[in-house]
Parts: sequence; structure tokens; C-alpha cells
Amino acid sequence: MRVSFLAPVLRAAGLIKFLVGRLLSQLLAFFLGGTECLCCGRLSFLPLCPECVEKHLMGFAPPSASRCHVCGKPLLGEQGICMACRRDARLSFVDGVFSLYPYRLWRKNLLFAWKVKGERGLSPLFAAAVHKALGMLRPAAGNPVLVPVPPRPGKIRRTGWDQVDELCRLLSILYGYRVEKLLVRMSVSQQKKKSFRERRSVRGAYAASRRFTWMKRHDIIPRDVVLLDDLITSGATVAECADILKKGFVEKVNVLSLFIVD
Ligand SMILES: [Zn+2]
Ligand SMILES: [Zn+2]
Repeated sequence: MRVSFLAPVLRAAGLIKFLVGRLLSQLLAFFLGGTECLCCGRLSFLPLCPECVEKHLMGFAPPSASRCHVCGKPLLGEQGICMACRRDARLSFVDGVFSLYPYRLWRKNLLFAWKVKGERGLSPLFAAAVHKALGMLRPAAGNPVLVPVPPRPGKIRRTGWDQVDELCRLLSILYGYRVEKLLVRMSVSQQKKKSFRERRSVRGAYAASRRFTWMKRHDIIPRDVVLLDDLITSGATVAECADILKKGFVEKVNVLSLFIVD
């Protein structure tokens, strides 16, 4: 009872803290003269001007018959599943992939600005795009449980934040999604401690979190989750994460990523 009363209060406090932080950094950007829009070059307070946000960030194509059901890449004359996914069954634990933007041209700089240069003003915009995408993906099913692909150990301590973690936090604060951190990323030394057989049987960079183990023990595993990541390159990361989730009895794992290398 106490938890259900506290949740909205904590959510509101998180939102206020975030908005004040954003406002201060936007004011700073204003007094320092703003920056050029990565797409059209116009002066803007974010790396993307409002017109480009509307047109490019929010204007992605919905999941459709013209995209591969497994990896989400546009199909080139194939039916349902692309040639690469037919050849390689790596993504067989994944029920579907929806990527919003191709990782090309100025979009590469956009991800760099957010992830590496720490332009966190982009975070609420990406959160809005993900919220829209989740609505397209599952219009009738209500808000799914979100599972972030975890960062390297110590990343948040070192840099103060992680982009996927922040995205999940905002999706929870602004749109009420339930976020479950079911996975952890192993450190190099943790990976080395595994036996040769263990290292061979799993690819070894990720593992079930304590929370996931606890949920398994109490039989309260979410049946249906959306795995969230910022960039899919080879698909190996989401494949491994989906593999762990399915082995822990999650029935359905869809993947949503902002960018995909195609
Ligand atoms: Zn622009
Ligand atoms: Zn494919």
C-alpha cells in the first residue's frame, strides 16, 4: 500500500528534478548562443531544430510488411524475413525487431551528440519517439514491460548517466511504463571467471540480474517484454539478451532500438 502511494510522488519528484536540470542547461545554451541543427544547419538550442524533430525524429515509418519480421531492416524483394536472417538463426529468440532510424549520415552525429557528447536534452525527444513507436507496435495491448539493455559495469558511476537507462527512466516518469532491469552486463573479470564450457555455451557478456532471479523464484516473471537499446549493429547483443530472457521463461521478447546499422 505504501509503495503504491509513494510511486506517483517519486515519479513527480523525478520529473521536477529532470525538468529543472533541462531548463538550466537550455538557458545556458541560450546565453552561449545555441548550436547548429545537425540536419538542416539552422540555429537551435538542441542538436536538432524543432522542425527536424517533428519531421525526422517523430516521423519514422511504422512497422510494416516491407520490413524484415526478425531484424526490422527494410526488405529488398524478400518475403517476411530478410536473406541475412534466413542465413543466420542468431535472432531466433527474438519475436520481432522495430528500429526507428537508419544509422546513416547526420543521424550518426545525432547519436554521437546524445551518447558520447552527453546532449541529454535529446533524451525526452527520444523518449517521445519510443512511446509513439510502442503505441504503433502494440496498439491494443497497453503499455508493455520495458527491459533496458544494461550498460557496462561502472558506466553510470564514471560518466554520471547511461543513455538507455535515462530513456527508460523518462518513459517511466513521463508515460508510466513499467521498467524491469532483468539483465546485467558482466565485467571482463566476471567473464573470465566462467568455466570454458560456460563461456562456450553463452556468449557471456550479459547475465540475469538479481531481480530477475528473485522474480523467477517467486514466479512473477513478466510474460511479455520489450527489450530497449539505442543501436543495433550486428544484432548479437539483443540476441544474447533475448536468449537469457527466454531461458528465464519470458514468453515474448520484442526489441525496440532507436538506430540500426543497415
Ligand atoms: Zn533542422
Ligand atoms: Zn532480417
